[in-house]
Amino acid sequence: MRVIDDWLNKEISQNAMAILQDRYFLKDADGNYIENTWDEVAKRVARHVASAEINFSQDVKEIQKAETIFYKLIRSRIFIPNSPTLFNAGKTIDKQFFNKAIEDMTIDDYKQIFNLRTKHNMLSACFVVPMEDSLASIFDAVKNAALIMKYGGGVGYDFSVLRPKGSSIAGTGGKSSGPVSFMHVFNVAASTIEQGGSRRAAQMAVLRYDHPDVFEFINSKKDNKGNNVLNYFNISINIDNPSTFKRLIENDEELLLKHPDSKIQKKVKARELIDKMAENAWKTGDPGVLFLGRHNEYYAMSEYTPVTATNPCGEEPLPPFGSCNLGSLDISKLVEKIDLGNPTSSTGEEFKEIVYWAVRFLDDVVEANVFPLKEIEEITRRQRFVGLGIMGLADALYKKEIPYNSEDGRKFMAKVTAQLAYYSHLASTGLAKERGNFPDFEKSKYPNGFIPFAMLDDQIDKDIKIWNDKIREHFYGEAKQYKRNVQTNTVAPTGSISNLADTSSGIEPNFLLSYIRYMTNKEGERVPLTYINPVLIEKVGALITDEIKEEIVKKGSIQHIKSIPDDIKKIFVTAVDISPEDHLLAQHVIQSYLDASCSKTINMPNTATIDDVKSMYLKALDLNVKGLTIYRDGSLETQVLTTTSEN
Ligand code: ADP
Repeated sequence: MRVIDDWLNKEISQNAMAILQDRYFLKDADGNYIENTWDEVAKRVARHVASAEINFSQDVKEIQKAETIFYKLIRSRIFIPNSPTLFNAGKTIDKQFFNKAIEDMTIDDYKQIFNLRTKHNMLSACFVVPMEDSLASIFDAVKNAALIMKYGGGVGYDFSVLRPKGSSIAGTGGKSSGPVSFMHVFNVAASTIEQGGSRRAAQMAVLRYDHPDVFEFINSKKDNKGNNVLNYFNISINIDNPSTFKRLIENDEELLLKHPDSKIQKKVKARELIDKMAENAWKTGDPGVLFLGRHNEYYAMSEYTPVTATNPCGEEPLPPFGSCNLGSLDISKLVEKIDLGNPTSSTGEEFKEIVYWAVRFLDDVVEANVFPLKEIEEITRRQRFVGLGIMGLADALYKKEIPYNSEDGRKFMAKVTAQLAYYSHLASTGLAKERGNFPDFEKSKYPNGFIPFAMLDDQIDKDIKIWNDKIREHFYGEAKQYKRNVQTNTVAPTGSISNLADTSSGIEPNFLLSYIRYMTNKEGERVPLTYINPVLIEKVGALITDEIKEEIVKKGSIQHIKSIPDDIKKIFVTAVDISPEDHLLAQHVIQSYLDASCSKTINMPNTATIDDVKSMYLKALDLNVKGLTIYRDGSLETQVLTTTSEN
């Protein structure tokens, strides 16, 4: 695979190295590093995951081949698995197994690695933990979530099952304190767990839009100050059925807030609800919106195990006790050699092969994974969720000189995602032929001919039509008999791994073209490091004088710089240069080809009004999106990424 060879031995940046040292290199019990290079991480992860292949083959050459390809994919940073796989693969397993040359590896060595796995080898990022409406069940969920968060997994919960505040409790004569009060318990639990010794925990709380406590829930993060802060939670309102909700809004109808286990019922105007959501999202970015009904429509097992919540960043809808491991392909590296999205290019074969091996890696992770609870193991093995996605979209568009916020940009996004979906579903079907279907396959929608995503209209573009035809042929053909994984595609935020890959994150436009990052040097001093987007330098480096560089650092964007030509400005857009509508349309075209979901923020300018936020909600109701996250520039006091001038 040519493109992998190109990137195999490229130096990683100082920034990526600092992150590796900070969080990813394994340490011994005394805190001394036992790893010092990305190469060692890639070897450890590839070998640990490849050891799962002993479940399918006793041919050592075959397993060595898989390990070599996994290693090259990761070493080149063309494919990087989610952080828990990087943190936990090979952990606590004798280092001697990982030092051995690949040609000396025996079947017995692979078996030993596989059999030496312990609870420390938890490899997935995404979980949903259920609870029932009882104190015992709520505190079981706290414990279950703690076990997941300890090893670096993110957890989502559906709090809608809890009866509203003030409902009677049989037996005690008392009153329930309601979902929001219990969220604080989860928040405290999360705050006391430092994940894998390296990062803070993250959780998602979901509540149905017609739960009687919905207003309290919407307000639960409004005053993000002091001690009483749900700072380990993202919150989302589940508008289960977008078309019903749209009708209520359009006709200015009332909505009945109710819960099956409570006498408490209230009537409110649907418009009141959407206004409150918009107001708070305008203020703080929370709540987000989820359309779980749409998730279930495209989920092949929804009749048996409907999804009830998502992981913390919203890209992975899951049923109770569901879990998913993710991995991302850096398309900004791939576009250098592969004509991505073009259905007639001969370079497509190379992409197809890369996608096959990436899916095989993720499927092996399901085997190699040690799950924190037997219920999670049970459903994950029965359905085999995996999430292959992309990162580096913005940088890829810069390289191809296509504006993110243009028709051409959107066609590129749609075609690449369609190609990814098609190839990864072919891979999952190919693996099913070799390894067997996911155990629940016969109960799923696949045997009846089922396409697990919406697709775009054939008329949009001739290449889109070609991908659509191939997809239809697959799902109405061999996918009716063979499917290894219930879902295969998820686009993660790639918050950490895109930094390791030195690429733009997920499907987001770059937030800043330049910024100053403070790093700690060997002497322990904090030193400023000026980052400038490498593609900008590569394409128009000659234009970027020291003076202009300073200007870019100040604003993070080039739109205000007079000496830069307009055609360059059009290409090198940032998240704040792009209109909210263009953000939403990007999400729509990409989501049209994803069976799970994607992480995407709709950035709005600081000057946006509450009505502007509301109009995004209304637009989203008509598109193929499965949720919505809004962020108004500067609305949070502790904005993570900001231009230097505003600091
Ligand atoms: P990474 O780049 O570290 O692999 P992403 O930013 O792509 O992670 O996030 C993917 C998913 O991983 C999130 O939606 C969430 O489920 C989980 N995750 C990310 N960060 C955290 C965290 N700090 N704590 C718990 N889970 C996390």
